[in-house]
Amino acid sequence: MTANLVGERRTFVTHLECSLTGERYEADKLQGLSAAGRPLLVRYDLEAAGGALRREALEARPTDLWRWRELLPVRRTENIISLGEIETPLIPIPRSGGTNVLVKDEGRLPTGSFKARGLVMAVAMAKELGVKRIAMPTNGNAGAALAAYATRAGIETLVLCPSDTPEVNVREIAAQGARVYRVNGLIDECGAIVGIGAAEGLWFDFSTLKEPYRIEGKKTMGLELAAQLGWRLPKAIFYPTGGGTGLIGMWKAFDELEQLGWIGSERPKMFAVQASGCAPIVKAFEDGVEHAERWENAHTVAAGIRVPKAVGDFLILRAVRESGGAALAVEEDDIVRATADSAAMDGLLLCPEGGATLAAYRNALEAGLVSATDDVVLFNCATGLKYPLEDRSAVLDKNALPDLAEL
Ligand SMILES: *Cc1c(COP(=O)(O)O)cnc(C)c1O
Repeated sequence: MTANLVGERRTFVTHLECSLTGERYEADKLQGLSAAGRPLLVRYDLEAAGGALRREALEARPTDLWRWRELLPVRRTENIISLGEIETPLIPIPRSGGTNVLVKDEGRLPTGSFKARGLVMAVAMAKELGVKRIAMPTNGNAGAALAAYATRAGIETLVLCPSDTPEVNVREIAAQGARVYRVNGLIDECGAIVGIGAAEGLWFDFSTLKEPYRIEGKKTMGLELAAQLGWRLPKAIFYPTGGGTGLIGMWKAFDELEQLGWIGSERPKMFAVQASGCAPIVKAFEDGVEHAERWENAHTVAAGIRVPKAVGDFLILRAVRESGGAALAVEEDDIVRATADSAAMDGLLLCPEGGATLAAYRNALEAGLVSATDDVVLFNCATGLKYPLEDRSAVLDKNALPDLAEL
């Protein structure tokens, strides 16, 4: 089969596929969930993509997200919107984590979180497919990334967030051009409102996994990781799991890379990390079931993973189980301690969700789920600077200086 040649470049998308039933859907049309109410996955002609793109050619390209374009859905170059989606570094944290622990620091991306990966792709596709108005529920970072990219694409956006969403997120969303509403409910309740408006044709629903392309953007985390590690994968990945887009995306990326013949069949153990105050995936994992029930009274400092109900629950659980990993819940105190330790001992400021992965790693080590000699990657999903920090300063009076040697 030959690649579709439209506009200025080639893409290898063949169709979309229901993640539950395998039913096929047309790619070049605006699509939401499948008829079964489940996420749609983008499928490619990987044989043709592999013929067009050799690994050596890829390695010679600049390292940003768009180097993977043959494995991405955007057909027309002019629909690409970019704020500089760099390859994020892998930072060792030998003291707070261990000698074999790397943090993939996604806080360096535009808008300060890995939501940029998913939203740059989803918005580019919305532009390509002629969407004029988008609405989205958010815990903060997704709304910020949507606002930024949609503004650049000239698409109008409406963002609904729980009223206790971190203040900086609410303000950055508005600053970047979206209309933002604080709702007296959780993210899934914001999502329900978005769904009503979408059904009335007022806007296109951009909720997590309810359009097919965020996964494609997030999958670049897996592609990038393989390239950074010399085309092998770590023994384990700890991923802070809310809607699970990134975990599902990386799992898909590994399969695509294997089909291209760029990596082998070995996979990392995937650890889905949640907070004990909101752990629907952990409960489903432990109960041995395929779908998770809504978590009532969800609460945690790690707002990005406060997701009581995820449409992609079964995809997260499948990836975790197939990989031989686990879904792990961590206590609030442990999240706070891990976040503080990484900053104080290794100089790397994590966000609370990133801190949760370090806390989960420590627990997994103690429980024997991983060993200290395993190379592991933790995902720090956002910059720690977006979150309120503890004030540990003291005061100095310029008119009554103490003995400076005491400072
Ligand atoms: C969105 C988000 C998550 C969860 O990511 P998913 O891929 O949706 O599970 C974790 N941490 C932060 C900071 C986030 O913004």
